[in-house]
Amino acid sequence: METLARLQSKVVVNKFTGCHEWVGYTAWNGYGYLFHEGHNCLVHRLAWKLSKGPIKEGLVVDQKCRVRRCCNPDHMELVTTQENVRRGLAGLVGKRAHTQISFDKVQDIRGAHNAGSSIFTLAAQYRISPKTVSNFINYRRRVNS
Ligand SMILES: [Zn+2]
Repeated sequence: METLARLQSKVVVNKFTGCHEWVGYTAWNGYGYLFHEGHNCLVHRLAWKLSKGPIKEGLVVDQKCRVRRCCNPDHMELVTTQENVRRGLAGLVGKRAHTQISFDKVQDIRGAHNAGSSIFTLAAQYRISPKTVSNFINYRRRVNS
């Protein structure tokens, strides 16, 4: 089977985020891999190459959606290595902010959700990921008051 067809056969489209989520082999680092022309290739890079063309030397594929197993070329752009590192660090700072959300806010989020606000609305409002919101709502995340 052609590589693009093999790739697409192991992708599930997330209708909320538009991510093409790779369901094939995923390494410990969270990135998907697919065997292509004698190598195990990173799936998102492969998806880019097969749909948009070669990746110039010195450039990396940045996944704007921050979903490592996403291989939707429309969620990616080519950036320099420095830019990619800068964005990655910005993402880390963002993640740390999530864990420092106060107990009161979590109660607010749960209350608003009970009152009918969607997870996506709340995520945008509190600048956290929909996943974090759903963790709060489902009481999965332990919160220190
Ligand atoms: Zn994506």
